[in-house]
Amino acid sequence: MKSTSVGTQQVTDTAKRPAFEWVEDAPLPNTLRLPAWGERMLVLNDVSERTLTTPVVADWLADRATRVAAGGSNVVFATPRISQTVMIAACGWSIEPTDADTIDLSVEAGMGLDALVRATAESGWFGLEALAEIPGTVGAAPMQNVGAYGTEIAERTRWVEAWDRRERRVERFARDACDFSYRHSRFKREPGRWLILRVGLSLSTTPPADWPPVAYPGVDEAVRDWSAQSGRARSTMSPSEYAALITSVRRTKLPDWRRGWPGSAGSFFHNPIVTVEVADRLSGRWPDMPRFDVPGGVKIPAGWLIEAAGLKGHREGAVAVSLRHALVIEHHGGATGAEFLRFAESVRDRVEDVTGIRLVVEPECVSVS
Ligand SMILES: Cc1cc2nc3c(=O)[nH]c(=O)nc-3n(C[C@H](O)[C@H](O)[C@H](O)COP(=O)(O)OP(=O)(O)OC[C@H]3O[C@@H](n4cnc5c(N)ncnc54)[C@H](O)[C@@H]3O)c2cc1C
Repeated sequence: MKSTSVGTQQVTDTAKRPAFEWVEDAPLPNTLRLPAWGERMLVLNDVSERTLTTPVVADWLADRATRVAAGGSNVVFATPRISQTVMIAACGWSIEPTDADTIDLSVEAGMGLDALVRATAESGWFGLEALAEIPGTVGAAPMQNVGAYGTEIAERTRWVEAWDRRERRVERFARDACDFSYRHSRFKREPGRWLILRVGLSLSTTPPADWPPVAYPGVDEAVRDWSAQSGRARSTMSPSEYAALITSVRRTKLPDWRRGWPGSAGSFFHNPIVTVEVADRLSGRWPDMPRFDVPGGVKIPAGWLIEAAGLKGHREGAVAVSLRHALVIEHHGGATGAEFLRFAESVRDRVEDVTGIRLVVEPECVSVS
């Protein structure tokens, strides 16, 4: 959807389209590139209350068989035909009046997250730059509280506006009411209830005290190289320069979700948080195991556990554990969703056999028909 800038206000061409439209037999985008079609899809070009309360729209959304489709970067289509879907195409954003240091945005759910990150970083606003190169939409971001390189969308969220599919009304949740935690939120905890319409974000015109953040592997070296090559102090790095740096670090590890093969859904499993006793037991066996103290226990990288199970690069047919990053399961073309999931399940079983830890799958596995 094309978006243009008018002064400080952003508008989109969705205004020229009908408020909603129906699409039959449309391919469902998904970064795993598994075969998937939506038999009947409601496309919302407008997410105003007037559109949502139109009886045919409200009835479609109230039907539990209707699933929300978006960028498809965190789903596995286990079955190729999905009978009822809704997709938000509305992708406008606007700036709300505030004080000099703060930029408050209201962004419609259909906007690409990466496009938003780049547009705000190029405007010189701090806050989202560490989320560069994450695929998907703004509407999906609060679902699992997307995060990368020490930043989670929760930190910048002021509110989330969602359609209550059950009660047929719009609700606005302040950040604290969203129950954000690691890759989780109230919206994910209540599957099928909420259609996220808009997200309110708060960015800053000044850098945070510890700018630029370098705590993650690869980032410190990249910042050092940038400083040496540009001859500039690291503290002068702009948000868009930091976003570009994160992009290059990510591209060394993850498949390109924009084009080509292999397909992937990014990290396939959550990093488990275990008790200190469990972590100590594992460290006794693998003294080099990376471990991070976090609230509630010890976080262990799931990719490391997969490597410990001897599965890095393991391939069966068209599906493989990535050689570059063991947390990514790749689709090399030709597999069905069911075959893909069988492979993922075998990885999970093997990791449990070797380490005693049962990994939790991150993407939603869609098998409605
Ligand atoms: C290469 C790659 C790298 C990735 N890196 C990261 C990363 O660093 N950090 C991270 O957190 N994630 C990462 N992801 C996962 C993914 O990009 C995010 O989860 C993203 O937010 C999904 O957005 P989407 O629009 O593609 O949602 P989908 O995959 O289409 O949907 C995901 C879930 O959200 C629901 N949903 C989508 N939109 C809405 C809405 N408006 N209202 C209600 N429900 C909705 C869907 O029904 C589904 O259950 C990565 C994925 C890939 C492929």
